[in-house]
Amino acid sequence: MLEPSPILIPQDYLGECLSQEEFAPTDSFVQRHIGADSHEIQLMLKAIGCESIEEMIARTVPAAIRIKQPLQLGKARGEYELLQELKAIASQNQVWRSYIGAGYYNCITPPVIQRNILESPGWYTQYTPYQAEIAQGRLEALLNFQTMIIDLTGLEIANASLLDEGTAAAEAMTMAAGLAKNKGNKFFVSSNCHPQTIAVVKTRAIPLGIEVVIAKHDAFEFDQNYFGALLQYPASDGAIYDYSEVIAAIHAQGGLAIVAADLLALTLIKAPGEMGTDIAIGSAQRFGVPYGYGGPHAAYMATKEAYKRQMPGRMIGVSKDVHGQPALRLALQTREQHIRRDKATSNICTAQVLLAIMASMYAVYHGASGLKAIAQRVHRLTATLAQAIENAGHIISHTAFFDTIHIQPQGIDISTIKARAATKQINLRYLDNQAIAISLDETVSKQDLQDLIEIFTANSQQLTANSQQQSPIPNSLTRTSPYLTHPVFNSFHSESELLRYIHRLQSKDLSLTTSMIPLGSCTMKLNATSEMLPVTWAEFGNIHPFAPLSQTQGYQVLFKQLEDWLAEITGFAGVSLQPNAGSQGEYAGLLTIRAYHQHRGETNRHICLIPTSAHGTNPASAVMAGMKVITINCDREGNIDITDLKEKAAKYQHELAALMVTYPSTHGVFEEGIKEICDIIHYYGGQVYMDGANMNAQVGICRPGDFGADVCHLNLHKTFCIPHGGGGPGMGPICVAPQLVPFLPNHPFNDDTSDQTDDFANTVSAAPWGSASILTISWVYIALMGAKGLKLATEVAILNANYMAHRLAPHYPILYTGRNGLVAHECIIDLHDCKAIAGVEVDDVAKRLMDYGFHAPTMSWPVAGTMMIEPTESESKAELDRFCEAMIAIKHEVKAIASGEMDQLDNPLKNAPHTAAALLADDWNHPYTRQQAAYPAPWLREHKFWTSVGRIDNAYGDRHFVCSCLPLEAYKD
Ligand SMILES: *Cc1c(COP(=O)(O)O)cnc(C)c1O
Repeated sequence: MLEPSPILIPQDYLGECLSQEEFAPTDSFVQRHIGADSHEIQLMLKAIGCESIEEMIARTVPAAIRIKQPLQLGKARGEYELLQELKAIASQNQVWRSYIGAGYYNCITPPVIQRNILESPGWYTQYTPYQAEIAQGRLEALLNFQTMIIDLTGLEIANASLLDEGTAAAEAMTMAAGLAKNKGNKFFVSSNCHPQTIAVVKTRAIPLGIEVVIAKHDAFEFDQNYFGALLQYPASDGAIYDYSEVIAAIHAQGGLAIVAADLLALTLIKAPGEMGTDIAIGSAQRFGVPYGYGGPHAAYMATKEAYKRQMPGRMIGVSKDVHGQPALRLALQTREQHIRRDKATSNICTAQVLLAIMASMYAVYHGASGLKAIAQRVHRLTATLAQAIENAGHIISHTAFFDTIHIQPQGIDISTIKARAATKQINLRYLDNQAIAISLDETVSKQDLQDLIEIFTANSQQLTANSQQQSPIPNSLTRTSPYLTHPVFNSFHSESELLRYIHRLQSKDLSLTTSMIPLGSCTMKLNATSEMLPVTWAEFGNIHPFAPLSQTQGYQVLFKQLEDWLAEITGFAGVSLQPNAGSQGEYAGLLTIRAYHQHRGETNRHICLIPTSAHGTNPASAVMAGMKVITINCDREGNIDITDLKEKAAKYQHELAALMVTYPSTHGVFEEGIKEICDIIHYYGGQVYMDGANMNAQVGICRPGDFGADVCHLNLHKTFCIPHGGGGPGMGPICVAPQLVPFLPNHPFNDDTSDQTDDFANTVSAAPWGSASILTISWVYIALMGAKGLKLATEVAILNANYMAHRLAPHYPILYTGRNGLVAHECIIDLHDCKAIAGVEVDDVAKRLMDYGFHAPTMSWPVAGTMMIEPTESESKAELDRFCEAMIAIKHEVKAIASGEMDQLDNPLKNAPHTAAALLADDWNHPYTRQQAAYPAPWLREHKFWTSVGRIDNAYGDRHFVCSCLPLEAYKD
């Protein structure tokens, strides 16, 4: 053991982090966020042959792009002090009772779910379940989610979440465009869809050449060639319509019917699948997920099994492991953009796993009868409210409704009603100054109802529940089919049982609470508790996304500061916080470029140059933005082939719209030529889009805005500490240069974007600031670190990657390094040798790492037969060493196979991961010992992470496709 060193940060950084001349807080966060202390930093620097951090940076980052001035972000602050400051900002938000509806409803998060999932690092620090054997817990929870969606919508298959209801509708539209028998380009949208959904769909349609026709659903024209139609069920104003006829009409002309349905309503009204719907989409927010001023929430999509290959997003499927036991994993992966690239019809990558899991647990918690009881109560309250308002002489527009009523006030101005509501701190939905809509939810109390009635009657009334009242749901639309019949929704209704179920699933999953997750490009750094605390504060959580700005002043302060900080960090002029994932940032950024060219009359600029090494979302996003992808070669060092770039930029100079470039490159190197690359694109009239996934190597050292990029997205769930949540939530804000500012996204419910250039208005997310509540995480991170702390984080991230590269290089060749032999914040190790000498695949190494208690790095991307390791700054040297030792020990096992000491086929690598059940079986017929299998490294004696299943057969599951919960018998031998 090393002696603890007295000073935890190098002298140079003492200044602001642990100031001696000022009253700096003693709970300095920088040294907690950064894994290595100053002594370990020195040891690692020495190992890689650098005298100092400065020397290391000078050898990795081209001098031409390094910033000379420190970032203007202020000093690092203590956690205690900062949370108090944030509390003061939060208190500027006013938490009114909101009955605005429009796709967002207040709800009760069961405390057992809030504390043990939403606030539990065992869940929120999980990575996307690519390594299925150590992800069976969240995969089961997601399978429950899919089963719930399948049951409630009455369709055959469902995916494991999408980003929000608006983007789900847009995804459904493009899916229908590909599937429709008629090859029309017209898409029908009912005018009674939620306004933000219409805005997102319209934005998505324009670059794809789709004509969106918005009209009342019964005005659907039967003689047109619509490839699809979108209907809201119940409609945005609350009306419940039987869509069977419209759906039949869409089918008659070869199109697909898409229904955006409310999950709680579906417990009482006929399932969309039973009306012939082809695709159902919607939000699972009201199943226990707070408003969060817009998110994060999980959207869903369900469809017919015949369309499984066209389904966007991730789908969990049932397969089996080597022992023949049912085991779960991501199904049909070849559908995804990382495989299909510019052939992909969707760019979605990070989705909303954590929130889908919460919603599924809400259904597990309540069960079918519990959900139905909630729905019935909400419905009865709504009927009672409607009756009282009608009795007071106002018109209730629709006779059939569930939880939302549309009111035409009589003999009273809307403004008077608005004023009365305001005195009670109540938000209603005001439509065109003529009508009002009110949506009720499970939190509504008798007092709430009384207050609502008083607003319309101006006097207090005694509420009398009318037991004879007819339900305003017509018989023909009453749900008769069962749902949530699977035992999982009927077994865990006591809190003890549910707590244990949640914990049982959690313990099957490896998260950052167990060990480092060195996922290249994904930056699995610390998600500090102080950063997470504010997310569930009521002042941030309980605000409807369309609450007036006057009530969200605290949020506005936070957004403004965060925008300013991100602009300073990237060197750009403007920021949009709307995109709710990196992929959405790419799409939004390319739309600003598209609008910029169009605004200048250069409508023919539609070519997007993308290097072959790019992440699959890049080409997929370019196609969604209406661009054509031309690939640029990379040279042997993994850098952009500048000659090829020049040639193609010149060749397409009249059509060139943009270059998409990742920096540092996906090969983990700061390309020397980045400035020249940007200059070439500008010379030929294009704009440079920088994929900001690797921003963790740049913060405080160089700025994309300075070296020539025009727009970049930031994955706040990578660089800025929003946890991965097992595959979401994320946030992907974009930062842009001055000429692109007028074209940033706007939103129909945000009156603050009136300065945008309307003709090119884009809405990319359902909510104005995307998943607003988790922006608090990044705000806290930046404020806690300050300018110097952030810079140090970047430096240590680069140091850690180089230290690991240094330790692993004798055993696994490092594929790419910069001019001075160093890498950036991640490194690619070459495993071809393992295959050549011992027949060991990358997959075998990944599975064997599980036996050592580790999650594998990124596999075979961006180069086949390799692993990409990104340690981040948050891991201690001890953890880096443990991981390196695991990799080195595995290499020894590979060599033992090569030398014949171990069997070619029956060895610990091919049989990994080893489950307890397999190790404890009565017979053990392998030529190596159980000890070798389970305890190959000393630290495993202290803590052993057991995988719950053996190696999973992926192909079997794709051949026998199942994406809902298996009957219990399947789990018996
Ligand atoms: C993660 C990543 C993306 C996609 O971001 P999401 O938030 O998952 O949509 C794009 N490009 C690169 C290089 C990435 O690593």
